[in-house]
Amino acid sequence: MEERIKELVKKYENDIIAFAKKIVQTKSYPSYEGKLVKLLESKMKELGFDEVIIDETGNIIGRVGNGPVKLLYDAHIDTVQAEDRENWSVDPFAGEIKDGKLYGRGSSDEKVAIGCMIYGAKILKEIGIPKEISLYILGSVQEEDCDGLSMYYTFNEVVKPDFVVLGEPTSLDVYRGHKGRVEVEIITKGKSSHAAHPDKGDNAIYKMAQTVLNIKEMAKNFKEDPFLGKGTAVVSHIESKAPSINSVPYEAKIFVDRRLTVGEIKESAIKEFESCLVDKANSEIRVLTYETRSWKGRLISQEKYFPTWILEEDHPLVRAGFETAKIVRPNEGVKISRWTFSTNGVTSMGRFHIPSIGFGPGDEWLAHAVDEYVRVSDLPKATEFYALLPFKLLEKIK
Ligand SMILES: [Zn+2]
Repeated sequence: MEERIKELVKKYENDIIAFAKKIVQTKSYPSYEGKLVKLLESKMKELGFDEVIIDETGNIIGRVGNGPVKLLYDAHIDTVQAEDRENWSVDPFAGEIKDGKLYGRGSSDEKVAIGCMIYGAKILKEIGIPKEISLYILGSVQEEDCDGLSMYYTFNEVVKPDFVVLGEPTSLDVYRGHKGRVEVEIITKGKSSHAAHPDKGDNAIYKMAQTVLNIKEMAKNFKEDPFLGKGTAVVSHIESKAPSINSVPYEAKIFVDRRLTVGEIKESAIKEFESCLVDKANSEIRVLTYETRSWKGRLISQEKYFPTWILEEDHPLVRAGFETAKIVRPNEGVKISRWTFSTNGVTSMGRFHIPSIGFGPGDEWLAHAVDEYVRVSDLPKATEFYALLPFKLLEKIK
């Protein structure tokens, strides 16, 4: 079986690389993924997928096999922008290959992964997909603007899988979690008066300034987790309102990005912020909301809370992923690790508690970077992994 998969990956290697180039050449910023979705749809159909759906949000879902165990591979197919052409040494949308690297926006993060997943599913179908398995390939949209949002709709409306593999870059290692985050705004009210009579007012900026310093102090004492590290709190923006700049301000507002480690959740973070307030009675803490239209015109929204998640190291999916990765990369010292950034795992594992791991071509440090690239040699290896994993997973859960 393993040999047969290797042979077929070899047979399709040039097609896999050519398709990866085409994916990079098809620009797909959040809310503008329609053209890439059509490209993926036609490839899935060409390769004989059993079902191809574009859901109401605009995610694409392809399926091979019809078994009771639903395994889903997710790759978000949107990218951050690359309009700063002057900072790139290559055209970010040319799909140029040099020195064994495919350059371009989305090459590592992470839309090239979906090409490997699609060919992995095709190879699986060609050698005979195990009767227990349904394999879904999800090309999810708008992840860069709000991780997990579009996946949330797909899991509620189209398919709720039993196991998830995320194609975010892992350098072909197996990842099993990352920190969460909550984004809040804190508003403190004061009372305005003429700047010549500050004693008649109540300066909202002075109160907020102390709150900001309290948050800074508090963050020093966040607890350390051996696997995910320490949480953080960053006051990232500040604004105020006053009748004029010759008045005492009656309102001050800050935004805080709070990264959450193991054991830290939205509610605990808000409690901590409450303890930092100087004037509790006149202050409010709100979790921000993300809302936007997808390329299909659907209005989607979610509060900006992204739960921390970890899948235990001895879980069958982690074991299956690790074993598969070692077969694909013999003698390369495969690691089990975690991302420093956030992924759609906040929905699959964080909200739905569906066992999830990461395995993807490319490196995390290249995500959002100028001259982003993926090693071309990662592509056949990732494809091999995606074709072989269902067999290894079945061995572990039987
Ligand atoms: Zn990503």
